[in-house]
Amino acid sequence: MTELAFFPIGSPGRPWDAREKAEWRSQQVRRRRYDADVLPVVDRLRARFDVERYGRLDYAPDAYELFAVRSRDWRDDLPCALVTGGVHGYETSGVLGALQFAEQHAADYAGRVNLLIAPCVSPWAYERIHRWNPDAIDPNRSFREPSPAQESAALLRLVAPLRGRFLVHVDLHETTDSDESEFRPALAARDGKPFEPGTIPDGFYAVDDSANPQPAFQQAIIAAVSKVTHIAPADADGTIIGSPVIAPGVIEYPLSTLGLCAGITGARYTTTTEVYPDSPRATAEQCNAAQVAAVCAALDFALAERG
Ligand SMILES: [Zn+2]
Repeated sequence: MTELAFFPIGSPGRPWDAREKAEWRSQQVRRRRYDADVLPVVDRLRARFDVERYGRLDYAPDAYELFAVRSRDWRDDLPCALVTGGVHGYETSGVLGALQFAEQHAADYAGRVNLLIAPCVSPWAYERIHRWNPDAIDPNRSFREPSPAQESAALLRLVAPLRGRFLVHVDLHETTDSDESEFRPALAARDGKPFEPGTIPDGFYAVDDSANPQPAFQQAIIAAVSKVTHIAPADADGTIIGSPVIAPGVIEYPLSTLGLCAGITGARYTTTTEVYPDSPRATAEQCNAAQVAAVCAALDFALAERG
């Protein structure tokens, strides 16, 4: 079914121009505070970790400093692991899960792996509970050189000196009801395409890299998360959000080709987590805990395989 759904900005069949993007931006309202929710936790972490400012986003009248947390006992003979949250700013448990992992579990990995944690890659969108940056660009389709998104470019610069040294990367995301009600219609309108309705799976799933599939790694993550929250079943056609389910709770994308964050390190083990916060069967605390469980399981699996 194809619907020419009404979207309040733009004209059907014609991509947005600069004026329509500005109209969209003017409608985005700050609904929560990066400096109240995220930065105080980063500051607390300074006592035990190195905190690095890796960029600054100037979106007048607002500006955002970007921070990453590093293992204090960083050693060049150890592999590196990257944890990213808030590439999509509205996906709250990605941000809070990355911070919770840093506060509660990162120290457990001291001397085994160098951790690099970027908990809120897209703070403007965190505050506006949106998917895009102020230029109506999705950072998670923009991890390529040169990147059209400042958020993605800053993270690429942070990671570049360590490329080839990463063993594992976990990129924390959510799939939400607003994807279908708000963000997919906005995407279709922005690009001048018809909106084609899809489905939202009820539960957690993970996205593997079709260019580097690691099924045992993904299954270790699914097993750990299933102790915290339920795993998404496939739709009747055997898919989740339109992609074939290749193992319980796992789909695949070509991560680098699509410019997705989980493709930026070249690590052997990469995954994108997708928590479902709108389930009647999952609390916000469970969603954060699911992200933490995914990160710990990913690190544990990768380190055990490495020997
Ligand atoms: Zn996402």
